[in-house]
Amino acid sequence: MTDADCLFCKIVAGEIPNDTVAETDDVLAFRDIAPKAPVHVLVVPKRHSTHAGEMAENDPELLAQVMRVGAEAARSEGVEESGYRFVFNCGGDSGQEVFHTHLHVMGGRPLTMGV
Ligand code: C5P
Repeated sequence: MTDADCLFCKIVAGEIPNDTVAETDDVLAFRDIAPKAPVHVLVVPKRHSTHAGEMAENDPELLAQVMRVGAEAARSEGVEESGYRFVFNCGGDSGQEVFHTHLHVMGGRPLTMGV
């Protein structure tokens, strides 16, 4: 399923360019266009869903694939040893701006718990 108005569906479809880090049949990982840390990769399922909370209920196996690709991206981007953060924003108050499930993988400097 894709959503014609969804930015990340358009990236998955190749209609908007991206800086790809990794790709599988079901998942795409690419560098965030406005990185908040030296390493900032987004991992998205190719199938549209709104956020990770929804996916956890409806497609937990695909959500697990997203996290596996995120862990692989942390390794390939060189932050596995130093540590990194996984973030899923779920809904408006979380700060989610793109309503297609995505995992933020951030690292490369000490991060704070600022909310
Ligand atoms: O979790 P949230 O929805 O706020 O995150 C969306 C992320 O998508 C932002 O970090 C933003 O920089 C990124 N983005 C991107 N490429 C775009 C539009 C947004 O990497 N074309």
